[in-house]
Amino acid sequence: MYRIGILNYPVVHSGNLSLVKKWADQEVEMVFIPSLKLASSYQRCPDIRALPSDVAATILHGIEPRMVFTSVGSVSDITKHCDLEEVYCGSDEVSLGVTEEYLSSFLADRHPTIHVDPSFLQWDRKNVFTQKPVSPNISMSTDTFSQEMMGIALSEASLASDWWRQVGGVIVLEGSILLADHNQHLPNEWAPYYNGDPRDACEPGKNGELCSAIHSEQAIISKAARIGMSLEGTSLYISTFPCPVCAKLIAAAGVKKVYFLEGHASLDVPEVFHAFGVEVIHVQLEPSNIE
Ligand SMILES: [Zn+2]
Repeated sequence: MYRIGILNYPVVHSGNLSLVKKWADQEVEMVFIPSLKLASSYQRCPDIRALPSDVAATILHGIEPRMVFTSVGSVSDITKHCDLEEVYCGSDEVSLGVTEEYLSSFLADRHPTIHVDPSFLQWDRKNVFTQKPVSPNISMSTDTFSQEMMGIALSEASLASDWWRQVGGVIVLEGSILLADHNQHLPNEWAPYYNGDPRDACEPGKNGELCSAIHSEQAIISKAARIGMSLEGTSLYISTFPCPVCAKLIAAAGVKKVYFLEGHASLDVPEVFHAFGVEVIHVQLEPSNIE
């Protein structure tokens, strides 16, 4: 059995050193490191500070002598070692891109087992657009008040004229509703229907900021600013989990609890909420509250 690894290695840090050690423990024999030139063909924004691949290979050989590290300038360089049964690769866009091209160009008639290991190094395209479960350790709420507030958030959502997405939110302080609002198009509700919807040029789920709508959370927070209302210490009940732009507004405005009904976290939302001490609570509607 012959095992190889394909790993972009622009910088040495404890995370990717752990990955290399793990592969050595799994008896990977040779690791191919794409050169900067090869890596650049898979990256939208090549990292000008990245280590040259031959330098990375030398460093890694000193740290993990159980494996051979080879710098490769093209995918075809990997074929010299093609009698293999398993391929290990990093999860970043360069490692995945090189592996995919290698498999499709040189191993199309063979089917080695592929192992993809997390190797988060930077915000590459794949990471930016990944949608994750909100958090595995959030608390869950089914209490009557949460149900009632989420019901109001859903009523607000139903006022949104957007064809595709309706989101409603309610701001609460000490049991009292301060504000509620929903997503709406600006300068008026008919904007996407007069001029065409800019979302038509975007892939679903991507570039959420490119739209003619003000999000529900943005509408609430700007309304608070307009009337001079502090949101410090408030709770937000929102029907869909906030996008990265709204999450930063929520955190910076002083909201301390976000109750949500559905949706995914993307980009740096969990880290932003954690840094600002924003608690995230998943509200589960009782069947009687679901229309
Ligand atoms: Zn948003």
